[in-house]
Amino acid sequence: MSRVPVIAGNWKMNTTPSEGAELASDLKDRLSGYEGAEVIIAPPFTHLFQVGAEISDSPIKLASQNMSDKESGAYTGEISPKMLIGLGCEYVIIGHSERRQYFGETDFIVNAKLHTAIKNGIKPIICIGETLDERDKGQAFDVVSLQLDLGLANVEKNGARTIIIAYEPVWAIGTGKTASDDQAQEIHGFIREKLEKCLGTEIASETRILYGGSVKRDNVDGLMAKPDIDGALVGGASLNAESFERIVKFKEL
Ligand code: PEP
Repeated sequence: MSRVPVIAGNWKMNTTPSEGAELASDLKDRLSGYEGAEVIIAPPFTHLFQVGAEISDSPIKLASQNMSDKESGAYTGEISPKMLIGLGCEYVIIGHSERRQYFGETDFIVNAKLHTAIKNGIKPIICIGETLDERDKGQAFDVVSLQLDLGLANVEKNGARTIIIAYEPVWAIGTGKTASDDQAQEIHGFIREKLEKCLGTEIASETRILYGGSVKRDNVDGLMAKPDIDGALVGGASLNAESFERIVKFKEL
């Protein structure tokens, strides 16, 4: 089955609202009429309205970088799925390694957010990946396997169809170190096999699995040529319209 490639840009805590709107407008012009990939951008919460307005007449889709696992109520400072949908978000990034590392997000919280997202109709991009220490100890497959078991626990097949998985080895995020094409493919293949066991062949073959970790114009083509790499989650390089455009327009070797 053919999977539409996804290139998603995670802006993290960068840009002011006006800089974000400018970047979005530049991307809209550069990517106008391009149909080779589904393009998603995830600006900070504070820019979603402005950036959403900027890209409303383009195929670029909007995502948020995080979301509450609660639907509404007395949760000061939290943002609900309905709020995000109201701002035009089609996707939400859940369980990014920076959320896990700095904000104590566990696989159980990831799972709660996943269920809240699915119930409310916003599509989850679930991030998983091992640290350098875990890789050095030969635990990469076990870590990813556990994150999938706990993170996707009790997901129904219909909900599972909306999920995108992002494999992001923590040691490659923002470090300039990328997993080699073969290292990434090895884990992506493993993730797909695991999805097959948990959710069946059809869902496993439909699910897009993105690679993330220092993806740049120089390494995207090799990664995208691998059979189980269906796209990229891009941090740093998504803040520059020219480099993000080149990543979006990757060439399969
Ligand atoms: C990310 O934030 O998900 C990411 C992969 O960052 P970078 O591309 O900067 O490594």
